[in-house]
Amino acid sequence: MIEFKNVSKTYPNGVKGLRTINLKIENGEFVVVVGLSGAGKSTLLRSINRLAEISEGEILIDGKSITHAKGAALREIRRDIGMIFQSFNLVKRSTVLRNVLSGRVGYHSTLRTVFGLFPKEDEHLAFDALERVNILDKAYSRADQLSGGQQQRVSIARALAQEAKIILADEPVASLDPLTTKQVMDDLRRINKELGITTIVNLHHVDLAKEYATRIIGMQAGEVVFDGPVGEATDET
Ligand code: ADP
Ligand code: ADP
Repeated sequence: MIEFKNVSKTYPNGVKGLRTINLKIENGEFVVVVGLSGAGKSTLLRSINRLAEISEGEILIDGKSITHAKGAALREIRRDIGMIFQSFNLVKRSTVLRNVLSGRVGYHSTLRTVFGLFPKEDEHLAFDALERVNILDKAYSRADQLSGGQQQRVSIARALAQEAKIILADEPVASLDPLTTKQVMDDLRRINKELGITTIVNLHHVDLAKEYATRIIGMQAGEVVFDGPVGEATDET
């Protein structure tokens, strides 16, 4: 479970990114966070793996405080969290396989990761992940030779190879066309169902949110203004 307890975030310039957020997200949920640009969706998501540091309150993951975790304990918690970005964040000139394997950095010595000497077991996980998102045939292509949708599937595969228990997807389809958007959202939902990975997706399109989410969290000016099952979400959220 991911638990927000009275979480607030004030940026150094005084902008309030989050205002007293209280939330519980159960393991295996598929949650979509909606809201206009600047509502705080990205801050909310990035506070979960501490890409954004919160100013007040506490965030617990399966009862462990990530807010107060340091060093090895923090790395341990982060290992369970895969992050997917709007801009894919792949190493463009590297192969798809190497990109997917990079999700396993932290499991092995630097020597291994620098020279690409990954154990067979890791390669197996990577191929498995690529198969799950239907791009196994691209394993040896350079990442930047793939379409946007394919690149986003590589980043999903990277999270899978990492054996993430939580996937945080920050506007994963914002730069994709409608057909590709559907494919990537279908992949995320299928993976959630098949593997039970807790999935939190930020979207600015309410229609898309309604199509995919079982639970929608609506944000506005750093506050949660709606939290409930899809049927109850109105277009104002
Ligand atoms: P969203 O993801 O919903 O577009 P964000 O979480 O990115 O919203 O932003 C929430 C608010 O915090 C906005 O007012 C934004 O301008 C501000 N903000 C985000 N990142 C920073 C930052 N690094 N420094 C200062 N303000 C920020
Ligand atoms: P998003 O697509 O997540 O809403 P933005 O375009 O709002 O992203 O922000 C892009 C980057 O700029 C992020 O790293 C964010 O933290 C930072 N940022 C956003 N708003 C501000 C702000 N008002 N002051 C400083 N940095 C900001």
